[in-house]
Amino acid sequence: MNNVHNRIKKVVIAGGGTAGWMTAAGLTKLLGKNLEVVLVESDDIGTVGVGEATIPTLHIFHRLLNIKESEVMAATNATFKLGIQFENWKALGEDYIHSFGFLGKDCWACGFQHFWVKGRQKGIATEIGDYCVEHLGARQGRFAVLPNQDLNHAYHMDASLYAKFLRRISEQHGIRRMEGKIREVQQHMDGTISALLLESGELVEGDLFIDCTGFRALLIEQTLNTGFEDWSHWLPCDSAYAVQTKTTHEPVAYTRAIARQAGWQWKIPLQSRVGNGLVFCSKFITEAEAKQTLVDNLEGEMMFEPRLIKFKTGTRRQHWNKNCVAIGLSSGFLEPLESTSIHLIQRSIIRLLQMFPSNGINSADVAEFNRQTKIEMDNIRDFIILHYKATERTDTKFWRYCKDMEIPDTLAHRMELFKQSGKVYKFAQELFGESSWLQVLIGQGLMPEQYHPIVDLMPDSELNDFLMSIKQNVKRTVSQFPTHHEFIQHYCKSS
Ligand code: FAD
Repeated sequence: MNNVHNRIKKVVIAGGGTAGWMTAAGLTKLLGKNLEVVLVESDDIGTVGVGEATIPTLHIFHRLLNIKESEVMAATNATFKLGIQFENWKALGEDYIHSFGFLGKDCWACGFQHFWVKGRQKGIATEIGDYCVEHLGARQGRFAVLPNQDLNHAYHMDASLYAKFLRRISEQHGIRRMEGKIREVQQHMDGTISALLLESGELVEGDLFIDCTGFRALLIEQTLNTGFEDWSHWLPCDSAYAVQTKTTHEPVAYTRAIARQAGWQWKIPLQSRVGNGLVFCSKFITEAEAKQTLVDNLEGEMMFEPRLIKFKTGTRRQHWNKNCVAIGLSSGFLEPLESTSIHLIQRSIIRLLQMFPSNGINSADVAEFNRQTKIEMDNIRDFIILHYKATERTDTKFWRYCKDMEIPDTLAHRMELFKQSGKVYKFAQELFGESSWLQVLIGQGLMPEQYHPIVDLMPDSELNDFLMSIKQNVKRTVSQFPTHHEFIQHYCKSS
């Protein structure tokens, strides 16, 4: 490992998918003056070509890079996203929305759900989503970005256009892009990476290497043998078919995640096309059956034949090993149910910038980087498993497996805590907050046995007024928004 005398003057990014170009844009824009940054990508290999649904944290990255929202929307054919609609997850024919919004009002002693649970018991509370602006906006197809009422939103965007957009930014800030296939990764005597040898014979030397080579994990795994923690017993889906279709109607402001017999289907509406895919578990359904399931459930005309993508859910044992940092699919993979991969890319970039080893790599920074990344991934993993575990479905072998499977202790505790007491606690720095956990727990059919005693200090008439005023306020707010479609037309044209 380098020490304080080994200054990092040159960074080499291997791979130019979403991870590679996000990393390139971040490093060149924020550290570029003091750093030489080179990106190597292969047109022949190409990118994974999916990854089009995001979550609101992407705003943080865009703000850091000084990217205007309307500009990225127009450049990437994007639509707005207020959440995800889960269909058939709890039971066939039932659905719910996990929106990005905040539910109800907070109280010092307990969350809004405690008031809502009593309201349900008394027959005076309606669906939990009625108490959240983003939830109702998604359901009614309304959207606005206003100075005093910014909805917590994300985007659906074209992944290849997003990479091109970030490439332009990186080039403005001095990135050197090299096209070519990496034939060999060369190492120093101590095992650290010294250079990438391209098929053309060119040697790309560097001090710090960022592995953005996707599932190949050419540097972090194929070269450094870092190891992989397999989570497929908890998240058994291992394949996906992906295809794009022509738009048939105005885009909704949410991603659709529709549970099928051995997995689930996504529908991601862009301005002029729809991204579709079927995530499935090959132990329970054949590839031919999965492809047919997808094709049978598409709405518009297919733009090409569905493409098969194989994956394994889990995480690299270290995300930073020696002088190599893995970002993107090379660092591990959590299936796209909650659209968290691009978020994890962004988190790793920001973490790397915060810990950037300008004066040499030290083991404490490396350990801290790995510790924080692991906690983040563990928490997201638990949240995704919840959708599978808390199902009432027993209609196929796949759903029976999910319902009966063992789950991590951390998740078992959270589910039991909610069931017994209605409490949900967000861990420090956890991505998904209380409102997210609540919407999924309740949406999947878990209802608390108790609510906090402070709620009983409120007479029933007061509880009724309290719930009613929140609901009416939400309704009034959303009724003032234009439709999602109208808003996009205006917003992208005015950029
Ligand atoms: P890739 O896109 O695979 O890029 C790898 C790069 O490395 C390419 O440029 C390639 O050419 C280069 N490369 C590889 N080997 C070599 C070599 N030998 N020489 C030179 N170059 C090389 N994320 C979300 O946030 N939201 C979603 O909705 C979502 N949906 C997904 C659906 C599926 C089915 C899958 C599998 C993933 C999804 N993801 C999603 C994850 C998302 O697609 C990725 O996180 C994102 O695209 C980043 O990928 P990447 O850049 O790490 O890898």
